[in-house]
Amino acid sequence: MPIKQVPAYPDLAALKSTEARLATFPPLVFAGEARKLKKQLAAVAAGDAFLLQGGDCAESFAEHGADNIRDFFRVFLQMSVVLTFAGAQPVVKVGRVAGQFAKPRSSDNETKGGVTLPSYRGDIINGIEFDAKSRIPDPARQEMAYRQSAATLNLLRAFAQGGYASLENVHRWMLGFVSDSPQGEKYESLANRITETMDFMKAVGITSETNYALRETDFYTSHEALLLGYEEALTRVDSTSGDWYATSGHMIWIGDRTRQPDHAHVEYCRGIKNPLGLKCGPSLTPDGLLELIDLLNPENEPGRLTLIARFGSDKVADHLPKLVRAVQKEGRSVVWSSDPMHGNTIEAAGYKTRPFDRILKEVQTFFEVHRAEGTHPGGIHVEMTGKNVTECTGGARAITAEELQDRYHTHCDPRLNADQAIELAFLVSDLLKK
Ligand code: PEP
Ligand code: MN
Repeated sequence: MPIKQVPAYPDLAALKSTEARLATFPPLVFAGEARKLKKQLAAVAAGDAFLLQGGDCAESFAEHGADNIRDFFRVFLQMSVVLTFAGAQPVVKVGRVAGQFAKPRSSDNETKGGVTLPSYRGDIINGIEFDAKSRIPDPARQEMAYRQSAATLNLLRAFAQGGYASLENVHRWMLGFVSDSPQGEKYESLANRITETMDFMKAVGITSETNYALRETDFYTSHEALLLGYEEALTRVDSTSGDWYATSGHMIWIGDRTRQPDHAHVEYCRGIKNPLGLKCGPSLTPDGLLELIDLLNPENEPGRLTLIARFGSDKVADHLPKLVRAVQKEGRSVVWSSDPMHGNTIEAAGYKTRPFDRILKEVQTFFEVHRAEGTHPGGIHVEMTGKNVTECTGGARAITAEELQDRYHTHCDPRLNADQAIELAFLVSDLLKK
C-alpha cells in the first residue's frame, strides 16, 4: 500500500535479515495485557475513568538508564495520584515508553550552516549527530531499540508490581528538585491526606498486604507504530484467541502525518487487536474521521480506539466540536484524549519550545468543549520527563526563552519537566472536580 515516512535504508538485504531475526525474538508484551488495557479504556470511554498517557517525545539510546526510568515513573505516579484523588476515578496509566523511538518528520532533510543532510528519524532508524554517516538508516538500531525496550519494560514491571508503586510510598515519589517548589508543597499535603486515609483503612483491616490495589498498579506501554517493518516483525498470533496482536507495546497509535485511510499505517493497525490511538489534527474533517473509525473500529468495540486531539490552543475550539458531534451522532464509542503539546510548538531563542500557558489553554478548551457537548473529556497525552530540563517555557518557575539553553536535552520535541508535569496534573485535577 502507499506509505509515508519510510526511511531510505541503503542495504535492503541487511534490513530483511534484521526483520527476520526480530520475528524470532520473544514478544515484549502479551495479548492478555493488551486486552486488559482495552477493558480499562472501555471504562474511560464510558466516562468512568481517566487516561493519563505520557513520556518522552523520542526515547534515546544515550539516555537509557535506571535513574531516567525511575524518575519518569515516579513523576507519572505522582500525576496519576493527583488525578485519581481529584476525579475520584481510576486513572489508566499508559507510558510513551519502552518502544517510542521512531519519529515522523515534516521534512526529509535538515540544513545547518549550509550543509544539508537527511533528517534524524529517531534512534531506532538513524543517529541524531549532524554528520552524513550518523544520518544513514541502520537496521542494527532496530535490535538495539528492541533490547532497550525489553530492559525498560522489565524495570517498569518491577516498579509497578514490586512494591515501589505501593500507595504506602506516596511520599517517597517526590523528587528533590520538586520538593521545594509550589507543586512540592501541594503534593505533600495531598500525600498527607492519602496517608491519613490509608492509616484509617489499616485500622479497619484493609492493608496493602491484603489488598493488591494498594500495593501494585497497572502500568502500560505505548508508542507510535511508525516503523512498520519493526512492528510487523513483532506482530504475533495470540495462542488463546487466535487473533493478531502487536507485541511491541500494549497500545500503539497512528500519527497525524500517517493517518491516510488507504495507506499502510492504517491498514496495519486495522489488522491487530490492540487498543489503538489516532492523532487528530487540524486537517481532519468529520467525514474523514468517521471513515477512519469505520476502518479502525468497525465493531464499535469500547476501548479499542482513543482519539488524541492535537489542534493547538488557538484551533481546538474551532475544530473539536464538529468532530465530537459527528462521533456522537453516529453513536461511536471512543476515548477522547487531549494532546496539548503538538499543536503548540513555537520557536524561541533558536529552540523549539512550547509555552506552558498554551498547553494549559488547550486542555482547558478541550474540557469546555466536552462539557458543552455532554461528552467525557477522557484523558491527556503529554510529552514529559522526570528530569529537571528546560524545554518548555513558563510554568510556576516561569522558565524564560533565554533559559531554554540551560538544560535542553530532548531528542525531538520539548517536554514538560517534572515540575511542569505535576503542575499540569494539579491544574487538570481542578478541571476534573468541576
Ligand atoms: C508525537 O506524538 O510525537 C507526534 C509526532 O505527534 P503527531 O503525530 O500528533 O504530530
Ligand atoms: Mn513529539
